[in-house]
Amino acid sequence: MMNIVTPVQDGARHFLVGNQVARSAGQPWLRDGKHYRQSLRDGRHVILGGRDVADVTAEPSLGTAIETLGSYFDAQVAIETQDLLTTVDPATGNRFSTAWLVPRSIDDLKRYDAMIRHSTTLTFGVFGRPPDYGPVKAVSFVAWNHLIKEKDPEALGKIEHFLQTGRENNLVSSDVIIDVQANRKLPMPDRQARLRVVEERKDGVVLCGAKAGNSVLAQGNIGTVSMPPPDPTMPEECNIWTAIPANAPGLKMILREPNVSGRENREDNPLNAAGEEADCILLFDHVFVPWDHVFSYKNKTLGQIYTTLGQFAFWKIANRLAYRGEIFAGAAQLIVDALGTDHVPAVRAMVAEVISYAAILRGMMTAAVETAQPTESGVMLPNHSFVTAGRLHAIEHYPRIMQILRDLSGQGLIGRVPQAAWEREDLGDLLDTYLPGYRLDAREKNRLFNFIWDMTCSSSAMRVALFENINATPAPALREELYRSHDRSNGMNLIRRKLGL
Ligand SMILES: Cc1cc2nc3c(=O)[nH]c(=O)nc-3n(C[C@H](O)[C@H](O)[C@H](O)COP(=O)(O)OP(=O)(O)OC[C@H]3O[C@@H](n4cnc5c(N)ncnc54)[C@H](O)[C@@H]3O)c2cc1C
Repeated sequence: MMNIVTPVQDGARHFLVGNQVARSAGQPWLRDGKHYRQSLRDGRHVILGGRDVADVTAEPSLGTAIETLGSYFDAQVAIETQDLLTTVDPATGNRFSTAWLVPRSIDDLKRYDAMIRHSTTLTFGVFGRPPDYGPVKAVSFVAWNHLIKEKDPEALGKIEHFLQTGRENNLVSSDVIIDVQANRKLPMPDRQARLRVVEERKDGVVLCGAKAGNSVLAQGNIGTVSMPPPDPTMPEECNIWTAIPANAPGLKMILREPNVSGRENREDNPLNAAGEEADCILLFDHVFVPWDHVFSYKNKTLGQIYTTLGQFAFWKIANRLAYRGEIFAGAAQLIVDALGTDHVPAVRAMVAEVISYAAILRGMMTAAVETAQPTESGVMLPNHSFVTAGRLHAIEHYPRIMQILRDLSGQGLIGRVPQAAWEREDLGDLLDTYLPGYRLDAREKNRLFNFIWDMTCSSSAMRVALFENINATPAPALREELYRSHDRSNGMNLIRRKLGL
């Protein structure tokens, strides 16, 4: 049994971590799955199917994902995996989640890479906002402080304090950025839902409005709130970057309908039995935030550097997809091996297409880290052009890769037999006899296609496809970003010199 200690609670920290976060005495900045689950029982206001959810951990459609995320925290404290997921703070000797590390060197980025690889292994990458994703915005704030500090001289101190709070309490942070969908023809000042400061008080600000499609806050601890891509007509009171706890008074999370019931078994639904991230609309009804957690306010520069501030997030997203690419290539091979179709040239060509997807992505991500450069504020960021081009490749080809996996599977995707049928005395032996694959017995083959179904056909698979396509920045924005940022002067100069232009 580990001893539990409650964290130090000074004013600003208390706002984000409340009383709920317990930590293990041996590793005071880490917590295991049990403590993470406990931290979610904090009076948050979550609405599912029209009813209030008293305890998200006890709600089956939310709870299975919480169990999965809990195993991530267990892996942080397990001897065999802790080096992959945590870093030792040189000043105190305490271990903390590498997610809260500000990368200062290529070696730091490689620590991140090892963490992303491991978390993708744990969830097969279908959790787009694993605990190692959340602090991206705060790290970006440090990275680009030289652009922010002129108008927000206190921003760096506040964000470093925030990072330390996250580090010491091992918080799960979500990204709260995008506005809810409403009439896009309305000028910004007329958009009722736009999150805005409705009151500036001596001790902080009060927020009203709504935010869209937020993933994982209902299963996490805090959200970093920022504004979506800017518009010159945006009122200055909407220009705010801050952090809120999931249980902030006045905050309501309205969840979409679940894609998993929480009652899936691991034989019939190997992936979906691990649950899914819940997405929600956030309603802010006079949510108070102390000034300590208002990182930036009315600073127009932030709107102008939206994609710049997203760079670190874009790398994490693309890198997770690169590891998913390896899973897709492995899946393609297992399918054709199971069916004995691997000798067919057209089949091998399809598998090669999936291999090419994975290899290009991995190459881009490796190059992005090896050619990383520090920002003027001293934070090491992967090569932005390679990340952006890699991510565009990942998004554009994702539907094709899913289709190839379905195509390779043929009837395997619908010829699956539920475990309950297999267990019947009158069916089990016959199914064992009639349905074996090539070098796989019938039940193994069935399990493989259950997995492929979950990954490519189920409603969760479609939700993940929507997420990969559009989260953070969709393809048109990536193209624009490449046009804006990629240096093509070498090629231009060669041609200019040749032609005397
Ligand atoms: C599963 C899922 C999870 C999500 N999780 C989060 C989250 O955790 N946090 C968060 O902040 N957001 C989240 N989002 C929201 C996501 O960031 C937005 O959906 C995305 O940025 C696009 O914005 P929009 O939906 O408001 O598009 P809209 O502005 O409503 O546009 C709708 C469509 O019109 C087209 N379009 C509009 N404008 C342009 C343009 N200028 N150029 C080209 N095409 C255009 C595009 O096809 C676009 O998809 C999530 C979305 C999904 C689907």
